[in-house]
Amino acid sequence: MERVAAMATVSSCSTSSLVAATGSSKQAANVQSLGSCRVLSGGVKLRGAAGVRVVSAVRENGAVRVVSKQAAVSTPTKESAVEKEVYDCVVVGAGISGLCTAQALSTRHGSVVSNVLVTEAKDRVGGNITTVQGDGFLWEEGPNSFQPNDSMLAAAIDSGLKDELVLGDPQSPRYVLWGGRLRPVPAGPADLPFFDLLSIFGKLRAGFGAMGLRPAAPGREESVKEFVTRNLGQEVFERLIEPFCSGVYAGDPSKLSMKAAFGKVWKLEEIGGSIIGGTFKMIQDKKNNPPPPRDERLPKPKGQTVGSFKKGLITLPNAIAAQLGDKVKVNWKLTTIKKTDVGYTLTYETPEGTKTVNARSLVLTVPAYVAKEILRPLSEGAAEALSQFYYPPVCAATISYPLSALREDRLTDGKLFGFGQLHPRTQGVQTLGTIYSSSLFPNRAPEDRVLLLNYIGGAQFTQITEKSDEEIVKTVDKDLRTMLLKPDAPAPQMHGVRTWPTAIPQFTIGHLDHLESAKGALKNANCEGLFLGGNYVVGVALGRCVEGAYESAQAIAQYVSQIPAKTGSS
Ligand SMILES: Cc1cc2nc3c(=O)[nH]c(=O)nc-3n(C[C@H](O)[C@H](O)[C@H](O)COP(=O)(O)OP(=O)(O)OC[C@H]3O[C@@H](n4cnc5c(N)ncnc54)[C@H](O)[C@@H]3O)c2cc1C
Repeated sequence: MERVAAMATVSSCSTSSLVAATGSSKQAANVQSLGSCRVLSGGVKLRGAAGVRVVSAVRENGAVRVVSKQAAVSTPTKESAVEKEVYDCVVVGAGISGLCTAQALSTRHGSVVSNVLVTEAKDRVGGNITTVQGDGFLWEEGPNSFQPNDSMLAAAIDSGLKDELVLGDPQSPRYVLWGGRLRPVPAGPADLPFFDLLSIFGKLRAGFGAMGLRPAAPGREESVKEFVTRNLGQEVFERLIEPFCSGVYAGDPSKLSMKAAFGKVWKLEEIGGSIIGGTFKMIQDKKNNPPPPRDERLPKPKGQTVGSFKKGLITLPNAIAAQLGDKVKVNWKLTTIKKTDVGYTLTYETPEGTKTVNARSLVLTVPAYVAKEILRPLSEGAAEALSQFYYPPVCAATISYPLSALREDRLTDGKLFGFGQLHPRTQGVQTLGTIYSSSLFPNRAPEDRVLLLNYIGGAQFTQITEKSDEEIVKTVDKDLRTMLLKPDAPAPQMHGVRTWPTAIPQFTIGHLDHLESAKGALKNANCEGLFLGGNYVVGVALGRCVEGAYESAQAIAQYVSQIPAKTGSS
């Protein structure tokens, strides 16, 4: 069982208040099964921690929705016939990457890849995506939102979720803490002259650097810190990019690779000799080779914004799993892969005992640290390369305050307006950043309360795993009192504190080489038809995971179309 922190005393259960305990629990909670409905009991008493109170809450996340809504996603019967079948493709892992791969295989490549199986170790789909609901609040314990790129929007539309989509107000400011004040980040080039996050000198340095008046590239892979400082100056790095790296990767920018982590920006200098030169070149290239017409079913987000669904991010994995029906097996943990003359035999631990399935192709969308152990018997080289990837811990601490606890100068028309705030490591606060959850999307909290999702930990504060939930909330509360809250603000209500011991893969220097080594080693071991997918392969943002899933599906379909159809037996 995964962790449940600071939860809940639940005494009643209905279809809309189902509870799943997901997460390894520091403070063990008890999960009681009542037919298809589970009740989490075992409230956690918090002492100290600035008088933090425990709020009773009901968890409604992917686990329960999937299990309860459609038995199709449950485990099969003992002597299931599917085990004899040779699947065109088995997708391992039902996070966003695995589900979107399977969805694309079924809907876009169904004529070639006609039978797909998705297998998931946990009792729920969604992977990192973890929406929780209770006491009038709805919050995320993993990712909080996505950038609505076309692939992400296509996944939502293909899953029948057009009316469920919610997009944040593009005017919503983001803030960075600098010099004791929260300062807005420029929303676009027009804001550049007016914003006060950078000094005049910093702006000029960035402008000249972007035009190409800066030291030449060193001819080796640069860290994010090196690239940005060289191209745009120290201020842009310290005040914009360093906190941004915390926000996206919970990472250390002196170790993250510019090419691997922010490849699109890195490429601008490559193709155009400078960031501005590359931007012009890119615009020109786009004009000369216009992309295919945009899918007209997709909504057009106005400006820079982020998206989710009315009932949280878990809506998408649940909808895809519902579409795939009994092609999704949860509680199926892959343990071994063997090569056969048909393709591969995969062995699973399931509640009904060991299951094996045969497949012509497979894609592993599990984290690298899982893939490396499974692949070791097939290729020591691939396992070694995959063991280079680092996943630091991150904690998502969701708390709320009454609206009246906020400082007047943080309010616009009596409301907290904005996406959230980021805190550079130099500014004396531990919390990496705070999302204004109740301002960003509707129906996240009662009208009179402000729901805040705080991320803390990451590559530069790995000791977060040693902190108790009370200590974490106390730290976050202390930080917020220096920025957002009135001195006499009451203690926060604590809704969920979830520490991910291995949260987000870091695209550090050498990442792309390690990935190529892993793929090369699999090729040398004649593992054709075995694909690597998931966030450490394509990028950590949800939108990028979906794009990567579509690319994987295309490659799998191409592979399957080229191999002679064979039958096999288990
Ligand atoms: C705290 C946090 C905050 C984040 N915030 C954001 C954000 O706001 N916006 C954003 O765009 N991105 C964010 N991200 C990143 C994003 O959530 C992930 O990159 C994305 O969800 C990864 O999806 P995935 O399917 O590749 O991997 P996962 O979600 O990790 O899915 C892999 C699946 O494989 C399963 N699995 C593991 N082992 C086995 C096995 N042996 N057999 C079968 N199945 C197995 C796992 O149980 C899991 O379900 C955040 C991530 C974290 C952790």
